[in-house]
Amino acid sequence: MRVLIAEDDALTRHILQRAVKSLGHECLLAKDGAEAWRMHESEPYIDIIISDRMMPGMDGIELCRRVRKAGEDWYTFFIFITSLGEKGDLIDGLKAGADDYLTKPLDHEQLQAKLLAASRVTSLHRRLNEQNEELEKLNVELFATSRRDPLTMLGNRLRMREDLETLASRIERYEHSVCAMLCDIDYFKAYNDNYGHVAGDDVLKKTAEAISDNLRKGDAAYRYGGEEFLVILPEQNVRSAAAAAERLRGRIEAMRIPHTDREQPEIITISIGLAELRPGEKRSAENLLKEADKALYEAKENGRNRVEVNGACHR
Ligand code: GH3
Ligand code: MG
Ligand code: MG
Ligand code: MG
Repeated sequence: MRVLIAEDDALTRHILQRAVKSLGHECLLAKDGAEAWRMHESEPYIDIIISDRMMPGMDGIELCRRVRKAGEDWYTFFIFITSLGEKGDLIDGLKAGADDYLTKPLDHEQLQAKLLAASRVTSLHRRLNEQNEELEKLNVELFATSRRDPLTMLGNRLRMREDLETLASRIERYEHSVCAMLCDIDYFKAYNDNYGHVAGDDVLKKTAEAISDNLRKGDAAYRYGGEEFLVILPEQNVRSAAAAAERLRGRIEAMRIPHTDREQPEIITISIGLAELRPGEKRSAENLLKEADKALYEAKENGRNRVEVNGACHR
């Protein structure tokens, strides 16, 4: 362990240093509280401070208070040195945050016992810190995984709901439109039936990749349902969003994934419904989705593999 001794009396300091070293610990020396504080600040990982109570300038109590206030992720065990009979001092020291005390004149065995107990406490603190860090990391990972669809790696419904809530609170302040694009793979049930579920999953992944590649900065994509995807385009008006939707539809078509169990063209295609929320409109994000869904329904009705915007075909 790294032990810092804060003691203004040279002889006591020397005796303590020899004793601590003879027990196999590394020893740092400070002549007063201020010097000890500087060392605590600059030296990494001091396990134990053994400090005199009365020192010129910063005394032991103030040193202890500062160490306690500063030490959040590294616990330094604090031991006061008191002279026999200074009972009040002892309580003051413990109240300031000290863990234990030693009495003068120094007893070698007492020092050994206190250092043993100290090492147990500090290693417990280290272990707790490590576990906490590990837990924090896991929490961050868990947060991300619980909001991601594992197949497509897009945001899932939970993520979507949270993002839409944030969006809703920002919508009123927006000075530009917000667009929602609902994409649905055409005749996907037939694809699954014909090529199997694994091949179906692969199509979902490829579609999601194409969607991700097609996103602009600020856009967000989610897996809305089985073979349905939602793209929110917060900074785009209906014209730029329709162009993006058409580009995406074309990309999927250009992959030319064979799908013979449907009408022409015998490849995988998607239909897209697009809706827009204009600045100043008092409608909810939910309302926007409903409209996109309506437009998607029309795209399906009008022959699939197409983009519909609020009833107007944009192909
Ligand atoms: P439409 O052109 O009208 O959209 O017809 P469709 O067959 O695509 O639509 P429908 O809603 O009838 O079928 C959707 C299919 O999507 C049914 C289901 O088997 C499939 N599906 C949903 N989730 C998954 C998935 O995670 N993996 C796979 N492979 N298939 C899925
Ligand atoms: Mg002193
Ligand atoms: Mg569907
Ligand atoms: Mg479908």
